[in-house]
Amino acid sequence: MRPRNIPHNRPPQARTYEDGRDEMAITEHAVAIAGGGPTGMMLAAELALAGVDVAVLERRPDHVLVGSRAGGFHSRTIEILDQRGVADRFLAEGKTAQAAMLAATVLDMSDFPTRHPYSLGIWQNQIERIMAAWVAELPVRIYYGCEVTGFAQDEAGVDVELADGGPLRARYLVGCDGGRSLIRKAAGIEFPGWDPTRSNLIAEVETTEEPPPGIRHDATGIHALNRMEDGKTVRVIVTERQLGPGSEPTLRDLGEALIAVYGTDFGVHNPTWISRFTDMTRQAAKYREGRVLLAGDSAHVHYPAGGQGLSLGVGDAVNLGWKLAQVVDGTSPESLLDTYGDERHPVAARAIQHTMAQAALQRRDERMQALVDVVSELATMDEPRKRIAGLISGLDIHYDLGEGHPLLGRRMPDLDLVTATGPLRVFELLHGARPVLLNLGEPGGFDIAPWSDRVQPIDATYDGEWELPVLGPVTAPTAVLIRPDGYVAWVGDRTQGPELADALTAWFGPPSRRITPR
Ligand SMILES: Cc1cc2nc3c(=O)[nH]c(=O)nc-3n(C[C@H](O)[C@H](O)[C@H](O)COP(=O)(O)OP(=O)(O)OC[C@H]3O[C@@H](n4cnc5c(N)ncnc54)[C@H](O)[C@@H]3O)c2cc1C
Repeated sequence: MRPRNIPHNRPPQARTYEDGRDEMAITEHAVAIAGGGPTGMMLAAELALAGVDVAVLERRPDHVLVGSRAGGFHSRTIEILDQRGVADRFLAEGKTAQAAMLAATVLDMSDFPTRHPYSLGIWQNQIERIMAAWVAELPVRIYYGCEVTGFAQDEAGVDVELADGGPLRARYLVGCDGGRSLIRKAAGIEFPGWDPTRSNLIAEVETTEEPPPGIRHDATGIHALNRMEDGKTVRVIVTERQLGPGSEPTLRDLGEALIAVYGTDFGVHNPTWISRFTDMTRQAAKYREGRVLLAGDSAHVHYPAGGQGLSLGVGDAVNLGWKLAQVVDGTSPESLLDTYGDERHPVAARAIQHTMAQAALQRRDERMQALVDVVSELATMDEPRKRIAGLISGLDIHYDLGEGHPLLGRRMPDLDLVTATGPLRVFELLHGARPVLLNLGEPGGFDIAPWSDRVQPIDATYDGEWELPVLGPVTAPTAVLIRPDGYVAWVGDRTQGPELADALTAWFGPPSRRITPR
């Protein structure tokens, strides 16, 4: 029996024996995740669904996030949550909108072939609350108030050092501990990129004057004032005239920044949250060092223009979760973990490049305004609109799995299937995070008995069009092998060629044979 989720408010403790001897009661888990933000929670859910004994080590006393932080996520992230059957929980609390933007143009993606052709506006503190509630339904061990201070890895595992208590032993450690990641630094993983050139203050405050709502641009960057749902608090984002220091910002800093832009500080007082973010842009040179992996902001930081950070982290988690689970339980060799960095590093690199462009376009002196106007006009044209919306939404992600049908390495569309037992959506097949061989040809046409303990064979029919975002219509395959993350690992025709067995072995381990767990 794996432990049920029991949130712990204390880290694992040392034990004192009757003879006075102090001995560390070593707590062991198959996987330890440092950081219980969106990435860490998503990864914990993925591992738990795959049956892995996973622990989250989070330094906050609970999941509550002070301040609203991110304002939502995009279409592919909604799809990912839909693949696990929990998208409705987020949709119920947020507002869908066309929110992908380039320069001053909204990139309407309502014609994209997805069940969710929009972004979802929902604050990160709501996102984390909903995620925490979901994770609480799964067999995940969460240690709150538990700060990771270091680790030492050896051939067989990782000893995780904790500020208060511990140690904790795990076979793998994943750093989901945010942009200042201790895990990344302690692993000696380089973090090349660009130093900050500009900083913003973000705050939730009360005001004595009514601030003008909405977004303003000037030569420094973007500024925004919006009254929040409680009718009392104003969410402020203001670009500072000079790059701010690394120290925590104060109410005075906020007032001065507002006066510089608006000529008044609107009588800001009673802040519940003031924070500073910059356009520092960096990406980890690699996502794995032995038994230590990175995911989310610990692997990539960038200016939040375009709102892609949280989505990238969720995408990392869903790519890594099933692979790590298969290595831990001995289904696959450790080399499967290399595909995680190979696939996800280019995705973040592309998004990061886009955020740098978006950030530049937020500076609006007259010359920059001319560029913004040109880019905005281009963005209204169909081809650029689709391309950029494909990138921002995450729907265009294409993992390089070699030559072949356009579906190979791309997300599987959520088709309405008909099976012997009735209608079924493709995403429903992925709720348990298990791979699927979807046979749309002659029933029983594929024999995957040697993998039947891992891969679900499904016979179904589908009569509709096959259309992919950005690419458009593609020819209908007769079978597809779908990974637990929803990406297509193999596309079939009517014959069961050797490639299917190769793909099954490459992604889901050798036939009927377990390798020695790592
Ligand atoms: C103003 C702003 C607006 C944004 N808007 C958007 C948006 O609209 N859409 C979007 O997709 N993204 C947005 N982002 C980015 C998004 O907030 C981040 O990308 C996201 O939070 C990353 O999640 P994470 O889990 O990887 O890291 P984090 O959210 O940083 O979580 C890391 C966790 O690790 C914990 N931790 C850190 N160190 C330790 C340690 N040593 N031991 C134990 N625990 C530790 C922290 O307490 C934290 O809970 C925005 C960011 C900002 C600043």
